[in-house]
Amino acid sequence: MAEIPKPKVGFYGFTGCAGDLLTILHCEDELLDIFNAVDIRSFLMASSDVHDDEELDIAFVEGSITTDHQLESLKGIRKRSKVLVAIGSCACFGGPQAARLGCGDWEKRFKKVYGEVKHTVAEPRESHPLDEYVKVDYCIPGCPIDKHQFFFALTRLAKGMPVELTTFPVCAECKWNENECLLLKGELCLGPVTAGGCNSRCPNHNLPCVGCWGPTSEANVASEINLLKERNFSAEEIVNKLRLFGGAAMVRRFADLLGIKTEEPAGKPRQKKARKPVAAGKAKKKTASKSPKAKSGKKR
Ligand code: SF4
Ligand code: SF4
Repeated sequence: MAEIPKPKVGFYGFTGCAGDLLTILHCEDELLDIFNAVDIRSFLMASSDVHDDEELDIAFVEGSITTDHQLESLKGIRKRSKVLVAIGSCACFGGPQAARLGCGDWEKRFKKVYGEVKHTVAEPRESHPLDEYVKVDYCIPGCPIDKHQFFFALTRLAKGMPVELTTFPVCAECKWNENECLLLKGELCLGPVTAGGCNSRCPNHNLPCVGCWGPTSEANVASEINLLKERNFSAEEIVNKLRLFGGAAMVRRFADLLGIKTEEPAGKPRQKKARKPVAAGKAKKKTASKSPKAKSGKKR
């Protein structure tokens, strides 16, 4: 009987701490199974034997886009891949380096750090998540990702099946873990508006959630704001916390309730909808956009 070809898979990294790719590499117990299930054509962190001109079934991409060169590479990956999966908060939402996205003062902040240096290798640009530029089929959130969610997604996609990740907020897991609520103890916890899946890692250790898994579609935004206001947190404190991992998209969801205005960076089209936090849904055929665009309905 003819052997069924394994799905061709590539792993790529842009601006970030590489924590997601390292999480995958550190899965020593499962790596053999991964190699048996898929044909890895590119994973520079694991091997210099890369084939970066081939068509792929699945591309996993970590990190945000911060240079013109990265943008061209991303477009190339999108063009060659049937399914593109953003892995980690930087790829999905921009990460901490995109915390001020939407404030419109990127060049000023950039010059404050780097001065008037002329960049010869790659032209820098404000940090954006992947789906500002190309269609992202799925998003596995986390800072870093959770290996179980990665294996779940890989297994489903390798079999040509859609991926559905958690839609409930961190609070659900926090309750299942029988933690005492930190919001009720006066802490600024983002559990109610953050995607679950981390097993409420921080509240389990009496630390408030800072939202590193990004926003959830099941968030009770109004209730969170009311609770925080009742506890005398200022709009500025709340916005700064929301920005850390959720960036402009997270802040926009709260803007009306907080009575604040959000701006888009100069030269960028405004997103029509708030970014949906964690991707889920059916895989679509490859497409590559030519310019930044609104988020795909794939992401929740
Ligand atoms: S501690 Fe945070 S995550 Fe846990 S229930 Fe309270 S608000 Fe939700
Ligand atoms: S509790 Fe919040 S900040 Fe902590 S790991 Fe989970 S999502 Fe991230």
